[in-house]
Amino acid sequence: MNPPADCRHCGVCCFSNSPTYVRVTGEDWTRLGDDAPGLAQFIGHRAYLRMSEGHCAALEIRNGPAGPDFFCTVYDRRPQVCRDLERGSPECFGERDTKAAAVAVAAAVAAAVAAAVAARAE
Ligand code: SF4
Ligand code: SF4
Repeated sequence: MNPPADCRHCGVCCFSNSPTYVRVTGEDWTRLGDDAPGLAQFIGHRAYLRMSEGHCAALEIRNGPAGPDFFCTVYDRRPQVCRDLERGSPECFGERDTKAAAVAVAAAVAAAVAAAVAARAE
């Protein structure tokens, strides 16, 4: 399954139930600045981004015009492990092969919630 031209149409690699999925190094913590204490947590002696509802806490699933929009709220300051995972790389293909179905279900639920919230605000 080829990746889309824009990661915002995919978001698969931002999903996991593991609390140790996204490692936050000292440099990452510094780059995250004021957001670090809220977005990251220590498990043992190491820091990781918090996970929420099966995905990274920094991921916002928006209701885009062409379907769910997987928006990283800290994109310019994201941890190195996220920077290293390139779209179209073997790791990207692996993520999409193993997790895409579960993410599609989660995205459909999130998009429905976002649409309901938007409708209530009108
Ligand atoms: S920091 Fe951004 S790119 Fe990295 S897992 Fe979280 S939402 Fe995805
Ligand atoms: S790097 Fe690959 S798996 Fe991650 S969001 Fe982009 S296309 Fe999806």
